[in-house]
Amino acid sequence: MGASDWPEISYFEEGTDAANSILSQLELLEEGDWLRLYRAADGTYWRIDAWDKYQTQFLVRLSARDGWKEFDATQLQKDLLKKTRGESSSNVCRWADCSNAALCDSEFCVDHLWDAGHRR
Ligand SMILES: [Zn+2]
Repeated sequence: MGASDWPEISYFEEGTDAANSILSQLELLEEGDWLRLYRAADGTYWRIDAWDKYQTQFLVRLSARDGWKEFDATQLQKDLLKKTRGESSSNVCRWADCSNAALCDSEFCVDHLWDAGHRR
């Protein structure tokens, strides 16, 4: 699978075969602020969070190199969390005054899980 097959955002697990396969196809351009910027052979830019035992890492496609550190992937990350867990068809978030659907295997919606620190 080359970069053209990678989704706009996905979870990245440093040290796994999948992660090593991805890294072997990327050229590291810059790093800083707990982020790393890469370029794939097809010219696309990708950002990966620096490895930290307590943080979830993401592989995110960027539309440009400019502003690569500032790019806010929060919405993409939330969408990924929602897509990965799935939304309950019957349960509503238990947060007061929230009427969003709860995610599967959870009592809360994606926004409230996110605010509580859940990333996957
Ligand atoms: Zn909620």
